Amino acid sequence: QVFNFSSGPAMLPVEVLRRAEQELCNWNGLGTSVMEISHRSKEFMQVAQDAEKDFRDLLKIPSNYKVLFCHGGARAQFAAVPMNLLGQAKSADYVDGGYWAQSAIKEAHKYCVPNVIDAKTTVDGKRAITAMKSWALNDDAAYVHFCPNETIDGIAINEQPDFGDKVVVADLSSTILSHSIDVTRYGVIYAGAQKNIGPAGLTLVIVRDDLLGKASQALPSVLDYSVLAENESMFNTPPTFAWYLSGLVFKWLKEQGGVDEIDKVNQAKADLLYGVIDRSDFYRNDVAVANRSRMNVPFQLADAALDKRFLEESFDAGLHALKGHRVVGGMRASIYNAMPLEGVKALTDFMVDFERRHG
Ligand code: PLP
Repeated sequence: QVFNFSSGPAMLPVEVLRRAEQELCNWNGLGTSVMEISHRSKEFMQVAQDAEKDFRDLLKIPSNYKVLFCHGGARAQFAAVPMNLLGQAKSADYVDGGYWAQSAIKEAHKYCVPNVIDAKTTVDGKRAITAMKSWALNDDAAYVHFCPNETIDGIAINEQPDFGDKVVVADLSSTILSHSIDVTRYGVIYAGAQKNIGPAGLTLVIVRDDLLGKASQALPSVLDYSVLAENESMFNTPPTFAWYLSGLVFKWLKEQGGVDEIDKVNQAKADLLYGVIDRSDFYRNDVAVANRSRMNVPFQLADAALDKRFLEESFDAGLHALKGHRVVGGMRASIYNAMPLEGVKALTDFMVDFERRHG
């Protein structure tokens, strides 16, 4: 059995893939594939509505928030957020906690003057993030943007935002649905689908009603939250197959007991993997315990000369995509919702054995 530790596109629940396989050529008894039918057909509208309902149930999204099913990946939102939310404001607060936050800041420079809050710090020589209460937010900033889980750095901001009236925008691409959140603390949440939701090509946006209608004139309609909301995410042809498959993932997650239950499994997986890393001098993780990501676990081998061998042998053992991002190096195991505990067990067994043979 193969366990795929890719950071995204990432592993999907096997039950979902099997069902999609069964239904691929003959969906819903129609004799065609779901990807071949009109997005405006009553059959697909049902798929779309069910997916939205299940997603809303899973995250307990209040009725004064719209859920948008968008194209363009999370990177499109790096532009969509300022163009939808700035209004008359000239600046926005951007918290820099790692690679993806920095990418959002770079894009924001095209539309405003980002007030960059450098939240990167160290604790006992390990990479960490400063406490939210120390973030110097600007009164005239239209919103504050941050990324609670840095997929590449393996750094998480685990505090829930509490900034009074400030509009909070969060890139939840690599942590959405892995634990429960209080949606009411946010103005906008966005997430590319290809980690914890479904296939690439779909991006989910959750936006509070009162933030609609402020878009810049120059904003392309396909990125305009108001246009998308008015058209129930069907202003242009949506990525229907990704939407359908994500709907199956939401049903699967409900069957697992929902977000609170998967949260427990995610904690058990992270404890197991970090436990093996921490008990050894052969492996190392450079992130302070309080900011460790439970979704993306980067680790280094003490002897980097063994990296290639580790990757070859792990691949042969059915443990795929463990190479770290080029910015960080070493290894990275992404262990999103669809990764079962037994997958992490297989990885840690391999790591212990590899250390025994090469340590
Ligand atoms: N934000 C985060 C946290 C990510 O992990 C990624 C991709 O891995 C992105 C943004 C960019 O997403 P996309 O490739 O969908 O534009």
